[in-house]
Amino acid sequence: MERGAGTGFATFALSLPAPCLAETGAFFMDNSRTAMKAITVSALNEFVWSDRDIPMPGEGEVLVKVVLAGLCRTDLKLIRSGHRDLTLPRIPGEEAVGIVEKLGPKIESVSVGTRVYIYPGEWCGACPSCLSGAENLCRQMRIMGFHRDGGFAEYAVVPAKSLIPLDDNCSFSDAVFAEPLSCCINAIELSRLKPAETIAIWGAGPAGTLLKRLSSHIGADVVIIDPDKKRRERSGALKFVSGRLFDVCIPAVGDENAYREAIAHLAPRGRIVAFSGLSADSSYHAADFNQLHYFEQTVVGAYGCTYRHGKTALDLITSGAVTVSDLISHTMPLSELSKALDMVAERTCMKIHLNPQE
Ligand SMILES: [Zn+2]
Repeated sequence: MERGAGTGFATFALSLPAPCLAETGAFFMDNSRTAMKAITVSALNEFVWSDRDIPMPGEGEVLVKVVLAGLCRTDLKLIRSGHRDLTLPRIPGEEAVGIVEKLGPKIESVSVGTRVYIYPGEWCGACPSCLSGAENLCRQMRIMGFHRDGGFAEYAVVPAKSLIPLDDNCSFSDAVFAEPLSCCINAIELSRLKPAETIAIWGAGPAGTLLKRLSSHIGADVVIIDPDKKRRERSGALKFVSGRLFDVCIPAVGDENAYREAIAHLAPRGRIVAFSGLSADSSYHAADFNQLHYFEQTVVGAYGCTYRHGKTALDLITSGAVTVSDLISHTMPLSELSKALDMVAERTCMKIHLNPQE
């Protein structure tokens, strides 16, 4: 299908099914439009789907038409109970892909019409974390959907340097996985997992499954554990492990019991990755330092991802090294966010993609 603009195209577009439109991204902004639909969180657990002004890109920024946004448990936590990095009011959405619609002044690094994944971080580039290649820990980090408005809207203004163009044969619905996969790549890198080592992952949701696939890609021997029968059947997960120790243990669920089990199954010289945050009122903060001492074990945190991880994730997705499309259980209009959040809370879904253009 050709890309086009104007009213003639709009008529043509209406005759096509929505997923087809979303995939090709073959529609451009009517220049007379000044309003867009967006989700705005005004207070904890209070949000509306309403008209907002389409934001204007400033210096160093571009306007992106959001084609798809991914929903994850972090959004549930952020909207319903808050998050360390959240400021209100806010348009959430840190997993987004779309088409560059308008350029801010003097932008030459990207052109209008480019299909892009948006790395959700905006980093200073000058602090010790940024200079060490860990811009996810930038002292002035501004995360899309947390400190600044995100992808739960028809349009989003983002820094031009955050964009990663998509390969022609990478679909938007696959590309949205670049963000969660990037976070998993960061965790696996920090775990120093090597081929033929053993790894156990607690939680067979989308993140746990992506961690499992990455570990297999590296050549590690991986098991995944989940108490939920449906998720076990879908992912080949075990109900529990006993009598085995693992080189790497990753709780991919923000649950104290998962952390307790993970540290109990750590081999000598093993590494446990604090990948999923525990709720703010969690009383479980202690690792047993004598255990770490006698068995030379390591506890390492992993939070978010860097721009480089986004590129690696898209390479793995585009080449087919890590399959992602089978993890999508639902694609819903963004206007149905409330229903989608209930499904995430009740774990009756795998990955939900939200379409703001529907
Ligand atoms: Zn920085």
